[in-house]
Amino acid sequence: MGLAMSGEVSIRLLVDGRFTLPKALLVFGKYFGETYEAALKPMLIVSEGERILVDTGIGPLPAKHTRFHKVIRKPGEGIEAQLKALGLKPEDIDVVVNTHLHFDHCGNNALFKNAKFYVQADELRYAYAPDKFMKNAYIRSFFDLEVDYVLIRGRYKLTEHVWLLPTPGHTPGHQSVVVELPDGRRVVYCGDAATLRECIERRNIPGVLWRADVALRSIDRLRSIRNAIYIYAHDNEQLELLLP
Ligand SMILES: [Zn+2]
Repeated sequence: MGLAMSGEVSIRLLVDGRFTLPKALLVFGKYFGETYEAALKPMLIVSEGERILVDTGIGPLPAKHTRFHKVIRKPGEGIEAQLKALGLKPEDIDVVVNTHLHFDHCGNNALFKNAKFYVQADELRYAYAPDKFMKNAYIRSFFDLEVDYVLIRGRYKLTEHVWLLPTPGHTPGHQSVVVELPDGRRVVYCGDAATLRECIERRNIPGVLWRADVALRSIDRLRSIRNAIYIYAHDNEQLELLLP
């Protein structure tokens, strides 16, 4: 399994299964007509005793969405099953970070009753009133909850080892998460700023966009991080975090 433990910070990718979508939604201007089984991979970080979950996977989709997306889970997959395998319940999570509020990233927010939710203020505002072209990507019941939102503006240091980094473009308030390991390497949870490996390696912007120019700038910001180990939100060939 992808358990990466290093001194006082440990990281694990969880598997919430996969969902189908047109691959052209993942990379701008490519893959027309292709369907992709996109991985869903929330990340669990334990830092300074805080249990931090980055993204909560895809929620139970309304019929309007199941016509377009099939959710595929093997036994043992899914956010609750994955936490259970680690001896954890949803109530044990102290902090949830949502990279953004698209339905495949905040779908299980409601499970985490004891968590504070760290979201960029620009993202929460936009989620309630998205542009027409972005409406289908937000499902209000997934994020409009009686929970404790901590609204972030810009960079934010969550713990000694964990940073939130604004990476807008895919959405107005998208953020990525950087975990600094004691040996100097940095695990960079890109979110949908980099849906697939080629987004970082070839500077290919996502297919779903609020602003293309801003998205490219965010990719360049992620590329400028030294000693980075990138995690791509939906790359189905990268399911584990392996730290050699
Ligand atoms: Zn998204």
